[in-house]
Amino acid sequence: MLKKVPELYGSLVFGDRIMREKLPKDVYKALRKTIDQNLPLGLEVANAVAVAMKEWAIEQGATHYTHWFQPMTGYTAEKHDSFLTPIGHGEVIMDFSGKELIKGEPDASSFPSGGLRATFEARGYTAWDPTSPAFVKDGTLYIPTAFCSYSGEALDKKTPLLRSMETLSHYATQILHLLGQREVKSVSTTIGPEQEYFLVDKELYAKRKDLIFTGRTLLGAMAPKGQEMEDHYFGTLKSRVSAYMHQLDEELWKLGVPAKTKHNEVAPAQHELAPVFDTANIAVDHNQLTMEMMKKVADSHGLVCLLHEKPFAGINGSGKHNNWSMITDTGVNLLYPGSTPSENIQFLVFLVAVIQAVDDYADLLRVSVATAGNDHRLGANEAPPAIVSIFLGEELTEVLDSIEKGTFLAKKEAVPMEMGASVIPSFFKDSTDRNRTSPFAFTGNKFEFRMPGSELSVSGPNIVLNTAVAEVLRQFYLQLKEVPPEEMQQAVYALLRSTLAKHKRVIFNGNGYTQEWVEEAQRRGLYNLRTTPEALPRFIEEKNIQLFTRHGIFTRQEVLSRYVILLEGYSKTIHVEAKTMECMLRQEFLPAVHQYTHQLVEAIQGKKAVLDSPCCTGEEQALTHINTLTQGIYTGLQQLAEHIAKAEQIQEELPQATYYQEVILQDMAALRQVADQAEAVLPRQYLPYPDYAALLFSV
Ligand code: ADP
Ligand code: MG
Repeated sequence: MLKKVPELYGSLVFGDRIMREKLPKDVYKALRKTIDQNLPLGLEVANAVAVAMKEWAIEQGATHYTHWFQPMTGYTAEKHDSFLTPIGHGEVIMDFSGKELIKGEPDASSFPSGGLRATFEARGYTAWDPTSPAFVKDGTLYIPTAFCSYSGEALDKKTPLLRSMETLSHYATQILHLLGQREVKSVSTTIGPEQEYFLVDKELYAKRKDLIFTGRTLLGAMAPKGQEMEDHYFGTLKSRVSAYMHQLDEELWKLGVPAKTKHNEVAPAQHELAPVFDTANIAVDHNQLTMEMMKKVADSHGLVCLLHEKPFAGINGSGKHNNWSMITDTGVNLLYPGSTPSENIQFLVFLVAVIQAVDDYADLLRVSVATAGNDHRLGANEAPPAIVSIFLGEELTEVLDSIEKGTFLAKKEAVPMEMGASVIPSFFKDSTDRNRTSPFAFTGNKFEFRMPGSELSVSGPNIVLNTAVAEVLRQFYLQLKEVPPEEMQQAVYALLRSTLAKHKRVIFNGNGYTQEWVEEAQRRGLYNLRTTPEALPRFIEEKNIQLFTRHGIFTRQEVLSRYVILLEGYSKTIHVEAKTMECMLRQEFLPAVHQYTHQLVEAIQGKKAVLDSPCCTGEEQALTHINTLTQGIYTGLQQLAEHIAKAEQIQEELPQATYYQEVILQDMAALRQVADQAEAVLPRQYLPYPDYAALLFSV
């Protein structure tokens, strides 16, 4: 019999309830202070926590512990140690100390460091992050940690995120104090990442080298049916998918991940999961866990979960909508407009701060989502364009207009929804409709950043968002701090007015998928950074390095090293794709085509022996057609091989990445075009791997 959900929820997490139960009162209080107020934790307290944690973990079946961290690979990393400690005479006890809880020393030399490693040698440290709760998974106690080099350079995605949350909290709190909210002590950023994914059959997956090595199909003619019927979106869940989602929910709930919404997405075989939002740090950890569990649970259902941004050409790719807001320790959502946003000065300050931040650091936001996989999405007619702009909706745009012009805005009445059938209960309409094409949309009480790709750790985009908003709040604070309280309101409105005049160019409520917008954006002077090699150099622009160093998020060296890591990652990804494509074509596809050609030749010869009229047959046409395509494939392969060899010779990271983008990707696209034409006419019994129809419609 299944456990009830509230019982199941968090049952594998060393969360607040367990801590209160298992820890001595004073230890619990000290730990709570560390978690809530970022106060340092003494070794004595750590020792007591370690003992309680270990005992609880052993009750949950754990024999090992691991410092769980998020290196620059974008995935999580773990090294397991058992609690086992020999005490002589062949006996052991299960032991775990505060020191082991607080600090680990994994060898850092095999993780990407972008050059930091050479200077700082191999030693790295993991340090316990008590603000994200430990949990038990597969017989191991997982302790969330930050990862840094011997001399303190961050080598991971958690450390800078925590730093960015702190700086935002600091400046947001200062602004709130100026606005009279003296009781606020801190501000957290909240995130709800909606995660899209594909499911394919495991046996079919195993036959495709491209899916195995690169996560996406590099070849494949379109199936007769794609997503044109739009019958999959919110469609009834098939029983196999439903069983998968059900187990996924349960596994996530046990780990304290508040999985909330699930549904089919637009593309066939595409789905989505959204959790209830949480503070940024925990939400990022939970999203990593979610991606991991998505893959793991799929396996036991004979499925494979694809998290790549573009597994299939010609149908929608997968993104990860990053819902983002700020909340005070007193429980106020700073992006909640209330019923009269025009009078809600606090809301307006934070709204306008976000607008300026997005305008000032649009390039960095683009950088934060730049990966080889995501380049297939951004700008295609399915995902937001590569141009960063903000959708506000009619009402807020009107409010901001009236502030800028200094005119008074009448209070709006809520509009009742008329369904025309009296049995349906009435309700009020939302004040804005949805806009699906905007990369950065205000959605009622939060912003939704829609550019991140499905596979990305959302740490990066949130580091940029938090820091950019903190910077604008810092500037606001400097302008307002000397203003006497009785003049504050007027001063704030003046500040909002001048800020809007400068930054309203980033607001765009229209259709972001059109060519007109691309041209309009250019007139407005907005960035359109279409590819990763085009975007990444913005990371090391002086204004952006200044932003990160001023707020203590990254040192200059950390920025430079991350830049190198990103470029290298991009080139390596495309390199592996190109090699995989070569291998599939040469070792699998072309031999299959030859078999078919041979069959055709035999058929033609046979026919000619029996029939004496040498007229042009269908077989001859087929033979000529496939022969031309085969030649095209050989030519394309040769060119690709030559270009790969050239790419390998390029020493510097940026020219190399640019070459992969401008030359290798184009070679691959051209090659694919011919190969897909050949696939389209190849009888299926010859095709050595499953086609799009099988992959997309078999689950
Ligand atoms: P949508 O209509 O876009 O699906 P939902 O209301 O379902 O929007 O919310 C999407 C995500 O936004 C969920 O993960 C939800 O928890 C999250 N969310 C809601 N409020 C906030 C907030 N204040 N801060 C961050 N995320 C939020
Ligand atoms: Mg959404």
